[in-house]
Amino acid sequence: MQRSGALKSFIEKAAGVPIDLTITDNSKSMLSLRHGHKGDVHVRIHRMFLDAGAAVIQEIANFIKNRRNKTPLTREFIRENHSAIEIPPKRRAVTSSEGKYHNLKLIYEAINEEYFNGQLALDITWGRRQTKTVYRKRRLGSYDSTGSLIRIHPALDKSNVPRYFIEYVVYHEMLHAALGIQVKNGRRSIHGREFKRRERLFRDFDRADEFLKYKL
Ligand SMILES: [Zn+2]
Repeated sequence: MQRSGALKSFIEKAAGVPIDLTITDNSKSMLSLRHGHKGDVHVRIHRMFLDAGAAVIQEIANFIKNRRNKTPLTREFIRENHSAIEIPPKRRAVTSSEGKYHNLKLIYEAINEEYFNGQLALDITWGRRQTKTVYRKRRLGSYDSTGSLIRIHPALDKSNVPRYFIEYVVYHEMLHAALGIQVKNGRRSIHGREFKRRERLFRDFDRADEFLKYKL
């Protein structure tokens, strides 16, 4: 059953009534019927039924004829196909800055005031949780310059990760935004001399560095 025209005439023939067929993408309502004034039936049906076999469509036609008719095949068909048609939620760049233990927005704002005169205008979010957590030194945070977005690894949202360490990671990413990528002698330098110099200006640099090396 490939096309809506074929579906419509199949149902009309099987149900014995003229129908007005609407194919929908509404995953909340697979099938709805409304009787028109002239003995016709308005049928709204989900797109998935375009691929249904004749037995399922016959059952729907019987149901249109008489709503007391049971629809086991149709229910089964919906159950089997429902997961395939569900549209996954759009990947949102900004998920949340408020974690269970650490609020990134507050940290970001404090750092922005303290080190950047409030000049940076960035978004910040906890990254999405992965099934497997892998710690790597420089992937604790990342800065996406196209979206002006800082992502912090969700593994850091723990009670035993001190705030100064999160601040350090956030500050590091903010520095990337502030300094950009420096090009020296034709070579791109991400953590160049100026970057390292500025990074050390962070008040808890030593403690944070220590934590990174030995506690994480
Ligand atoms: Zn970096």
